Amino acid sequence: MGKINFVDLKKQYESIKPEIDAGIARVIGNTSFILGSDVEEFEKEFAAFCGAKHAIGVASGSDALILGLKALGVGSGDEVISVPNTFIATLDGIANNGAKPVLVDVEEDTQDMDVPKVEGAITSKTKAILPVHLFGQSVDMGPLMEIAEKHGIPVVEDACQAHGARYKRKRVGTFGKLSCFSFYPGKNLGAYGDGGAVVTNDDAIAEKIKLLRNYGQKVKYYHTLVGHNSRLDSLQAAILRAKLKHLDSWNKKRNEHAKKYNELLSGVKGIITPVEKEYAEHVFHLYVIRNKKRDALGEFLKKKEIFTGIHYPVPLHMQEAYKYLGYKEGAFPVAEKCAREILSLPMFAELNDEEIERVVDGVKEFVKSL
Ligand SMILES: *Cc1c(COP(=O)(O)O)cnc(C)c1O
Repeated sequence: MGKINFVDLKKQYESIKPEIDAGIARVIGNTSFILGSDVEEFEKEFAAFCGAKHAIGVASGSDALILGLKALGVGSGDEVISVPNTFIATLDGIANNGAKPVLVDVEEDTQDMDVPKVEGAITSKTKAILPVHLFGQSVDMGPLMEIAEKHGIPVVEDACQAHGARYKRKRVGTFGKLSCFSFYPGKNLGAYGDGGAVVTNDDAIAEKIKLLRNYGQKVKYYHTLVGHNSRLDSLQAAILRAKLKHLDSWNKKRNEHAKKYNELLSGVKGIITPVEKEYAEHVFHLYVIRNKKRDALGEFLKKKEIFTGIHYPVPLHMQEAYKYLGYKEGAFPVAEKCAREILSLPMFAELNDEEIERVVDGVKEFVKSL
């Protein structure tokens, strides 16, 4: 029995090798390495996939967050409401604009933003609300948009883990003023290096992101804004174009694998499996279970060459970098409890039933051994 990786990007490449290789050869052939036609075409195709007017390719999901918030005018003295149990880049996007992250706790079942808690966190300084569609499942966007509209505060979606996910049949990334995607290799739509995109229906914001990502210039050497060098690389765009065609079918496979895991793990003592809300179409970027002894469980599985992850072990208000926010341990009890119990099992489209069964057998064996 071979090992079961947490993600397996090699298997995916092997399944579409000619398409990827053709895309890479095209870019090298036309030497349009920066911006150019593959970036433009990918932007059109990704916008169409999301059901949005614009997608603007940038260098990473982190930069999508930084530039997206900057385009909204978020800056020093402002507050942005988000959650403590996300990847660090969500808060870095806020803090790198000089603004202050204000956190609210999450729901225990989905680990997504606890929307009813948002209103209590709004102040006169709140400049944006930044929900994260964690693990590939949409935040409860209906009630969240109601609160945001009532207060006239723009929503920025962190959709870095949720390419293709839906809320009530509409793709995530199309609810807020703008949304941010990452094409980090392990994401549901991943490049062979870094990449990201800002998605929006707002023409003015799209224009501003295009300026910000390219030295503040529209015409070469005429700079209207203080800018950045944060473009989606053309080679990555060509790879993403090849992969985008398969994304829906890959997401469908992930969802099927999750159902199989849920079924096989149901009733296993002490194991909490993820829920898919009735409003959501979950794309299972991560399949996250909970168990009180998750460290030991992870070690047990590792001995069987089954590799797992923890997303994420330390809530962000307890990270050294964000101590200055002044939150104490205990400030977000749900996020903190989940952080102690979560374990991400192997999840990628190319997993097969036999491998899922092996993972589940490993989990069951661990539970029995207690
Ligand atoms: C991956 C990720 C990011 C950052 O994306 P990079 O492309 O790695 O910079 C931001 N937010 C969340 C929730 C992510 O999962």
